[in-house]
Amino acid sequence: MGLRPNLLTRRAAGVASTTFALLLSTAAVGVVPAASAYSAAPDSTSCAEPTDAHADVHSDARVRGGAAKAAHKRHDPNELTAKQVQEREADFAAALRNSTLRSKSSLRTGSTEGQTVALAPISIPVVVHVIQRDSTRAGGNIPDSMINSQISVLNQAYSGATGGAATGFTFQLQKINRVTNASWYPIVQGSSAERSMKTSLRTGGKNTLNMYLGELSDDLLGWATFPKRTLDVMDGVVVLGESLPSGGTATNYNLGDTGTHEVGHWLNLYHTFQGGCSGSGDGVSDTPAEREPAYQCPTGRDTCTAAGKDPITNFMDYTYDSCMYQFTAGQASRMVNAWTVYRAAA
Ligand SMILES: [Zn+2]
Repeated sequence: MGLRPNLLTRRAAGVASTTFALLLSTAAVGVVPAASAYSAAPDSTSCAEPTDAHADVHSDARVRGGAAKAAHKRHDPNELTAKQVQEREADFAAALRNSTLRSKSSLRTGSTEGQTVALAPISIPVVVHVIQRDSTRAGGNIPDSMINSQISVLNQAYSGATGGAATGFTFQLQKINRVTNASWYPIVQGSSAERSMKTSLRTGGKNTLNMYLGELSDDLLGWATFPKRTLDVMDGVVVLGESLPSGGTATNYNLGDTGTHEVGHWLNLYHTFQGGCSGSGDGVSDTPAEREPAYQCPTGRDTCTAAGKDPITNFMDYTYDSCMYQFTAGQASRMVNAWTVYRAAA
């Protein structure tokens, strides 16, 4: 599928150099409300979700093509119930209000999307943990070259170089940490082994992106945690190693956009199909509503009566890597707001 307009440019280009308007008061950055000011944040990333509340939840974070349907019964930390979204959004709005009051900044009061919010350059340190069973490629030994390409793909996607909105985020690789531990391979989502892996390996503050690479359970492409006011040892993104660009073997999903997608969750984006056709959907006004995930790369898909065709080219849908190439301006603002209140202070 060749919908991505700047695919060749994207793959050939280095990190785009983009100038952003600095509209957001620097005073706002780094102001995080005292934890005591709020009730405990909902743990949307809990692996032990009560089954009764989630019986109708769509499947998982990101699964491979045709296998997706079969996996629909699985719960995923990145597909939330309406109640979970409601709780998260209330916390987000409260945190934004508090931040605005404290800083008297230009943060838009109470808006979780806030089109007026600035796209200040924000540099995110990245630590990549390569989980290996042994030193073979089949055992998880993803070369440095692919990891560097993944960082490049992130920088291009978040700069708008692939055709979407510029977000203001850039990614700096700090370290590649290679770990040989057969008991963590494959990485099983929601397992005690995942917790022990992250407890042992996670580094940095809330602003540090910890990315775990490996073979994954259940044919998953990846999963991520959403931001919270307090640092959780589980914080980070897990990505199928073979989804990385420049050599990954995951057919249709090897251009690096599983990484792009999971980092979107880490920066507080929901799926474009969150909430289906009703309600506030994904909480972003410029992503048209979508009844359910799109797979592969459908033409002219339009599953809701509301205006706009399905956002199948958005990084937060489930389409092929070659099909998705953009974030919207609304998503960019939402991520920057979330960064300010949840992740800016290490
Ligand atoms: Zn997802």
